[in-house]
Amino acid sequence: MIRPSITEKNKIEKLSRLPQGGSCKAGVLIEKNAGWRNKCPVYNPDKCTGCYQCYMYCPDGVISKEGKGISIDYDFCKGCGICEKICKLQAIVMEGET
Ligand code: SF4
Ligand code: SF4
Repeated sequence: MIRPSITEKNKIEKLSRLPQGGSCKAGVLIEKNAGWRNKCPVYNPDKCTGCYQCYMYCPDGVISKEGKGISIDYDFCKGCGICEKICKLQAIVMEGET
């Protein structure tokens, strides 16, 4: 039998300390968190080419593909502004919450 070296043993022990799964099921958001937001992404479909970069990068997974564009679930968008930064065409612009 090949025994793991000290380094390999440490790796295994460290790995075992990591969470054994996601803290919540992917794609299932249960608590509305829009109250955190002080800026809101406003989407302009006329400028959107449907590249879906915003969909890929939204850390909360609240941007969905919709037809040739996207839609944003404002109940769960926390207003981080990443979608605005990633959209090269300014089809998403952050505006202050009213
Ligand atoms: S990144 Fe901009 S252009 Fe691309 S899908 Fe999103 S809103 Fe549309
Ligand atoms: S502001 Fe942040 S959380 Fe909201 S849609 Fe854009 S990337 Fe997602």
